[in-house]
Amino acid sequence: MFRSIRWRIALPYVVLILVAMIGLALYLTALTENTHKADLRDRLEAEATLLAAQLSAPDSWQWSRERLDALVAQFAASLGARVTVIARDGVVLSDSHENPARMENHLFRPEVQRALAVGVGSNIRYSETLGYDMLYVATVARTGEQVTRVVRLALPLHEIATDIAALRRAALGATLLAAVLGVLLAVAIAERTAQPVRQLTAAAQRVAAGQLDTRLLITSQDEVGALTHAFNEMAAKLGEQMATLTNERARLASVLTHMADGVLITDPEGRVLLVNPAVSRLFEIRVEDALGRSFAQVVRYHQIIEIWRRCHDTGEEQVEAVEVGRQRLFLQVIITPLQGVEAEGYLVILQNLTQVRRLETVRRDFISNISHELRTPLASLKALVDTLRDGALEDPPAAQRFLGRVEVEVDAMTQLVQELLELSRIESGQSPLHLRPLDVAEAIVPPVERLRPQAERAGLRLEVQLPSEEVRVLADRERLQQTMTNLVHNAIKFTPPGGEITVTVQRAGDEVVIAVRDTGVGISADDLPRIFERFYKADRARVGGGTGLGLAIAKHIVQSHGGRIWAESIEGQGSTFYVSLLPAPS
Ligand code: ADP
Repeated sequence: MFRSIRWRIALPYVVLILVAMIGLALYLTALTENTHKADLRDRLEAEATLLAAQLSAPDSWQWSRERLDALVAQFAASLGARVTVIARDGVVLSDSHENPARMENHLFRPEVQRALAVGVGSNIRYSETLGYDMLYVATVARTGEQVTRVVRLALPLHEIATDIAALRRAALGATLLAAVLGVLLAVAIAERTAQPVRQLTAAAQRVAAGQLDTRLLITSQDEVGALTHAFNEMAAKLGEQMATLTNERARLASVLTHMADGVLITDPEGRVLLVNPAVSRLFEIRVEDALGRSFAQVVRYHQIIEIWRRCHDTGEEQVEAVEVGRQRLFLQVIITPLQGVEAEGYLVILQNLTQVRRLETVRRDFISNISHELRTPLASLKALVDTLRDGALEDPPAAQRFLGRVEVEVDAMTQLVQELLELSRIESGQSPLHLRPLDVAEAIVPPVERLRPQAERAGLRLEVQLPSEEVRVLADRERLQQTMTNLVHNAIKFTPPGGEITVTVQRAGDEVVIAVRDTGVGISADDLPRIFERFYKADRARVGGGTGLGLAIAKHIVQSHGGRIWAESIEGQGSTFYVSLLPAPS
C-alpha cells in the first residue's frame, strides 16, 4: 500500500510537517519557559532589592527578631513567595515558612555565594523539603560598604511547569491538527497526480490485452497530458501496424493455403513449425498432427529426409527430384536454410511433378505410338509396291490382288488419321456438342442394327433390352451413336463365336446407365485401368484391326456430356462397359 505513488508523495510531506511542528513546539515551549523564568527572576530580584533596601537602614541590625519576622512575613504575604533573611556568616535570621532555629547554615547555597560575590545570585533547584523545583534569588543588604545580610526570595516553579505543560498540549494539538490536515492535503494532491497514471495503466493493460482501439481523453496540458497524447499516438500506431501485419499474415496464409506446391518449415533440429494443406495432402497427414512432429515423421520418405539432412550438414540449398511411394509421386524437392530470420530453420518446398511427368510420358508414348502404327502399313505398302514393280504388274490377276491389299492398308491409315483428327478436335473443343433431349433408344438401336450383320457373321447373339417407358437423356445424337458403335463393335471383336452381347438401359438415381455386356475374352485387372488411354491395346498380338483410339474417343465424348464411362471385367468371362448420362429435364 505504501508503495503507491499516493503514499510516496504523502509520506515525506507528513514527516516534514511532523518534524517542523514538533521542532517548533519544542523551541516555543523552551523559549516561553526561559522567558517566563527570566521574568520571574527579574521580578524576584527587584523585590529582593526592595527588601534589602529596607534592611540596609543603619539601625536595622538592632531590630528585634519580631520586627524582622514581621517584615519578612509581610513581604512573603504580598509577594506570595518564601522570604529568608540570612546573616553574613550564613546563619538564617528569619524565614517566612520555617523556624530559623531549625534551619542549617545557608552560606554555601549557590545563590547566596553568588550574591556575596557580585551582589545578586539566583539558582533553580529541586527542593527536597517541598518536593518540586524552586527558583531562588538572593541579594545583599549593605550598611555603607559592608555587607550585612543576604535576602533570599524563593518561588515554586510548578506553576510555570503547569503553564508550559498547557502550552505543550496546545502545541501538540496544533501539530496533530496540522499533520492530519497535511496528510489529507498530501493524499488529495497525490491522488490527483496518481489518478491519470492509474488511468493510463488501465488503458495500457487494455491495449496489452489486445483492445487496440483504446484511447484516453486528454484532460490537461501538463506532463500527464503530453503522456496521454503520446499514449494515444502509440496505441494508434500499434493498431495500424497490427492491421498491416494481420493483413499481410492473412495474405500469406491464403497464398500458402491455395498454393499447389507443398511448403514446410522446420526449426534447426528438424521439428516442423509450419505446413500448408498441399503438404498435408501429399503426405496424407493432418496439418494439426504435423505441427511439432519431426520432419522424418511427417515426410516419411527416406530420400526426402536425406536431402534435408544434406542441407542441414552443408548449410547450402539443395534441389533434387525424387520419386517416392507406391503411387510413384515424382517430387521436386527444394530445401533452403533460413538465415537472418529470427528463428533459423529450413524451408522445404515440394513441387508435385507427377502429373507433368505423366503428361510428358503420354506425349512421348503418343508420338512413338503413331510412328509405330504407321510403320507397319507403310512397310507393307512398300513391300506391295516393290512386288508390283518387280513383275507383278505383268500378271493382272495378281496385280489386282496386290492393289486390293494396298487399298486395305491405305484405308487403315486413313481411319487412323481420321480418328486422330477427331480425337484432337474433341480434345481441343473444336467440335462442339449439339445437346438436346433424346430418347436413348435413338442412340442405341441404329448402331446395333448396323452392326447386327457383322455380329451374326461372327456367330454372336446381339440383344437390346430397353425399359418399357421412354428414357430421355440430354445428348448429341451423332456422338452418342458413335460411342455405342464403338462399344458394340469392340464387344463383337473380343467375343468368340457362340457368345452373347446384351445392351441394357437402366435408371439409377439421377443417372441413366447404358451397359454393353459381352461374354468375351475379358480384360485383365492390370489392363482394365488403362484401356481408355490413347493407343492402348490390351493384347497387341491378338488384335489386328484396331487403332486403340476408340475408347479414348468414347471417353472424351461421354465426359463432354458431363457423364461417366467405365468398365468391369473378369478375364475369360466377359466385360461390361457402362456409360452414365444425365437424364433430360422433363
Ligand atoms: P481398338 O480400336 O483396339 O478396339 P479401343 O480403344 O476401342 O481400341 O480398345 C482398347 C483396348 O481395350 C482393346 O485393344 C482391347 O484390348 C480392350 N477392349 C476394348 N473393348 C473390349 C471388350 N469388349 N472385351 C475385351 N477387351 C476389350
